[in-house]
Amino acid sequence: MTYSRQPRALSDRFWEKVHQKGSDECWEWTGAVMSNGYGVIKEGSPSRKMITAHRVSAAIHFGPLKPSDVVCHSCDNRRCVNPDHLRIGTQSENIREAVARGRYVRRRHARVLSDQQADEIRTHLGRGRLTQSEIGALYGVQRQVVTQIARGKTYQSKGANQ
Ligand SMILES: [Zn+2]
Repeated sequence: MTYSRQPRALSDRFWEKVHQKGSDECWEWTGAVMSNGYGVIKEGSPSRKMITAHRVSAAIHFGPLKPSDVVCHSCDNRRCVNPDHLRIGTQSENIREAVARGRYVRRRHARVLSDQQADEIRTHLGRGRLTQSEIGALYGVQRQVVTQIARGKTYQSKGANQ
């Protein structure tokens, strides 16, 4: 039986560089910092990639991250790796929030689609990933409008709004 030298675990190398304080305080990264202010650490063999320290902290505390997961700081301190100051969001969550905040409400009352939006709806229908109700919600129109478009009827937009 042969013993190979084990590379040190990422989490061990990570904790060595963390100035750990109380749970409500920022835990500053004392290792390398990129010019954009985020701490970085080598992912470790076989990878030579550098990864951000706050993502490592999030992965240690919340479990493995998907590449699409976005780790946000609630404290705005980019060097901070305190898991209590980190929150995981996703791109699709960001999109949903944006829809909920602005566009959805505005268009729901207008209920007017431009020809371009009608085209976009046809594209969504073609992809088949969203239901007609979901597409309607995205554009702030009732499902029936989407059904109309799906049936190939020309959507009558209320005047030019492009
Ligand atoms: Zn912090």
